[in-house]
Amino acid sequence: MTTACSTSEEASSEQSVKLKADESVPYIGFVLDTLEQERWYKDKELFEDQVQSLGGQVKTLAANGIDEVQLKQAQLLIEEGVDVLVVVPHNAEAAAKIVELAHQNDVTVISYDRLITNSDLDYYISFDNEKVGALQATEILKRVPKGNFAYIGGAETDNNALLFRKGAMSVLQPLIDKGDIKLVVDKYTDEWRPTIAEQNMVLALKETKNDIHAVVAANDGNAGGVINALTSVGLAGKVPVSGQDAELSGIKRIIAGTQTMTVYKPINVIATKAAKMAYDIAIGKQIKTDTTIDNNKVKVPTILLEPTTVTKETINSTVIKDGYLTEEEVYSK
Ligand code: BGC
Repeated sequence: MTTACSTSEEASSEQSVKLKADESVPYIGFVLDTLEQERWYKDKELFEDQVQSLGGQVKTLAANGIDEVQLKQAQLLIEEGVDVLVVVPHNAEAAAKIVELAHQNDVTVISYDRLITNSDLDYYISFDNEKVGALQATEILKRVPKGNFAYIGGAETDNNALLFRKGAMSVLQPLIDKGDIKLVVDKYTDEWRPTIAEQNMVLALKETKNDIHAVVAANDGNAGGVINALTSVGLAGKVPVSGQDAELSGIKRIIAGTQTMTVYKPINVIATKAAKMAYDIAIGKQIKTDTTIDNNKVKVPTILLEPTTVTKETINSTVIKDGYLTEEEVYSK
């Protein structure tokens, strides 16, 4: 095994390096891209709780959107003796190096939520991401069936962003072909940054002289940026906007009427399933998956979970019913 280099120490600066305490205890590493969006805190907490309640040891590191840092963090965890690495890749292709390094050290890799492409990846667990995009476009079309549409996507380096767009286009394309819809804006958003989504929307409004009738935005962060831009020209609440993640801020905008919908992905399900999968692999148990996904190199054994549309009418029966958000936080001013 390679020795820790100085940058892996930098990468771990938030947490002191603690080598695996007990060889007999399964040790799982959770490598996150970022903790910028609200959802990833939930993933972290629920994943760690589940590994610990199964009797395993777990450490989470987040790379702040920097590929080199993510690789170093994976290396650090491998050197600490993890049995399994669960990775949310910042960049679908760059993370192939993590899989390579893990395999050189007999560590199994599960790709979490986002797919690592072009690699001999072992497992993948996510939501049906094309369906997420389809749900977004479908709900927006219920409000505005014709006119000028904008697509404000996610980060192009994230395979999910491509799938969200593919799913949305599967619904929009027939209407574009028919001439009912004109796609006047079609942009990805660097690093999923709401401020960049806002800038893109400001520009789009300028270029079209505010002639945009509906916006399919890929997540709640982007929706927030888009709605800021719409607010500045007096169109917030008049132009439907989609989202994803059922973030508290997104749900509050739905209640206020400026955001049309969000897509709820039950994080407790993906986090607990992934943690159990990782633990079972660590103790040598057979893993059951439902399907396979081609990552451009191998067919990866995969579990895909169901996303759900949330509108103003269904907030109570979805996110609140599940305990994802509380009634108090959702309806407090
Ligand atoms: C996730 C979304 C999230 C986005 C930005 C995507 O890969 O599936 O839930 O909003 O990344 O972090």
